[in-house]
Amino acid sequence: MASTITITVTQQVLEKMQQYYSNQVIKVPNHTLFQAKTSNCTITAYLSKKVVFQGANPEIEANKWQAKPHNSSLRKTQTSKASGLPANVANQSAIGCDEVGTGDYFGPLVVCCAYTTEHQIESLLSLGIKDSKALKDSEICYLAEQIKDIIPHQVLILPNVKYNEMVDRGMNANAIKAFLHNQALLKLTAQLNVLPKYLIMDEFVNEKKYFDYLTNLPKQSKIIKDNLYFVQKGESVHVAVAAASILARESFVKYLNQMSHKLNFDLPKGASSIVDQAGRQLVKRFGEEQLKEISKWHFANTKKIIT
Ligand code: MG
Repeated sequence: MASTITITVTQQVLEKMQQYYSNQVIKVPNHTLFQAKTSNCTITAYLSKKVVFQGANPEIEANKWQAKPHNSSLRKTQTSKASGLPANVANQSAIGCDEVGTGDYFGPLVVCCAYTTEHQIESLLSLGIKDSKALKDSEICYLAEQIKDIIPHQVLILPNVKYNEMVDRGMNANAIKAFLHNQALLKLTAQLNVLPKYLIMDEFVNEKKYFDYLTNLPKQSKIIKDNLYFVQKGESVHVAVAAASILARESFVKYLNQMSHKLNFDLPKGASSIVDQAGRQLVKRFGEEQLKEISKWHFANTKKIIT
């Protein structure tokens, strides 16, 4: 017998759910973030934050998401003590740094750092600026248009050929991200008259490693170190990080669309088996060399595509 459980979750839980079920999404009906199906039930997550579990064993899935601590709004989120940021940092002028494309086999790595003044924070939040992972592409592009002229920012796009060259030279993905973030920060801070008190990096690697990567680079450039804080879930700590993630994702989506257009071949996002399938078709049509030019070659997908 099928039964139904409905729960209401926080934005944060909703975002986690979207990530958690990302490989099991079956469709995205109107007013929903996604609909996914597991062996236990069908999960429909509405934009209103209501989530409906329907099927043979809905409680198994629903229990994963209930009784989680309430910790949703951007303003209320506590920053971790370890980060060294003050509790009211969400209301202060800051630069936020984030990157996208790291989990996408096809397409570039894109980093962005964005500066928001304390006076802009309220309106950015009411505009709906939040982590790009919680938004659809159409929403991301709309929001990016709204903010790109009012927020000083730097987007750096690393095309696949360059990315693969750096990996071939022995850099790992985190070293590449550290390099790009530092470059973006150098450009953005040079463009600003006043250096903000808080530069907030959505943590992809711990602080020590980040600076190790930068000091070990073959070509040395100035390293931005002052006022730089590393925080987990940076997008919920400061809207500048969320804005950076949106601007980066918009660039990624546009760039990937251009790549698809050039090849006249639809390049899927992510790194799932759908990507493997597309990769095999692509190799048949254009050859392995072409695949290397548009993919993150070191991903496990490559082995699955070229067997
Ligand atoms: Mg991030």
